Amino acid sequence: MSSGSSCECPECGTLVGINERYCPSCTLDMGAPNVRECAARTERETLQRRFDDARSKAMKNKAKQEWEFLSSCVQNESGVVVALPAQIARSIVTDPRLVYANYETLVGSGLRRPATQDNDRHRKAVASLLFGQADAQIRYGNLAIETESLGSYGDVSCRLRADAVRKRTSFLEENSYTFVRRHQMTPGDPIPPGYRAVWENRHKLALAKLGGQLKPGQRRSELRGLLVQSCGDRSNDEFIEAHIYGGFTVDSIESMTKITKAKRPNREAQMDVKIALSQFSKRRRKS
Ligand SMILES: [Zn+2]
Repeated sequence: MSSGSSCECPECGTLVGINERYCPSCTLDMGAPNVRECAARTERETLQRRFDDARSKAMKNKAKQEWEFLSSCVQNESGVVVALPAQIARSIVTDPRLVYANYETLVGSGLRRPATQDNDRHRKAVASLLFGQADAQIRYGNLAIETESLGSYGDVSCRLRADAVRKRTSFLEENSYTFVRRHQMTPGDPIPPGYRAVWENRHKLALAKLGGQLKPGQRRSELRGLLVQSCGDRSNDEFIEAHIYGGFTVDSIESMTKITKAKRPNREAQMDVKIALSQFSKRRRKS
């Protein structure tokens, strides 16, 4: 039996909340709560409607080929990319025991100082609205066809292996700050359905968002570039946000590339990037 907010544990029959990772009775792993939420029927059906509407619009605009090309790129090639600051990229590659932790975990355990008061409150509020108590488990990245990433968040683009993230990653149509503001979400509001997707439906989310903008004759390189548009300023970045439940290590990383930015990082950061990339390619040669 399953309702919107809970489902029956297949092992012992206990009703488990959608926001609980483990069955409280038998400790069976029920899967990442963010993914289970996005797999709920209302989410899937609303996303399908938005996808169908965007498709009709693209067909009306005579952009069938462009639609099919973009859909195939996202379905067959896309993955999750995380932008890491130079020093963190270097640490994670040089110490395979290191697990990438998020802001909430680091601040909560006293390992880093919080951001400024306004930024800290803003961040906590947005994460709470979207994830509740699971916010400390969420790592943020973006959906990319190759390794396109966000220079406003880091210096090194790390593409994660699909088998390391597909079961625990969900996607949101845009930056979570922008999403919460656009939908005027306040505490207690449900998350508007149809703007999130599980791994298997990531192409539907991308096409629901971008399909209506497609035009006949758009070049392939232009279409491939639509998913991530960033000029280094967070407020103007356009991307599909990836929410990864739990941490990752160097073993979860498929590739590492330097993010080219308008403003060059300082000398220390450039050195960290160089070491991270060379150590990473050494590891790959060994394995
Ligand atoms: Zn159980």
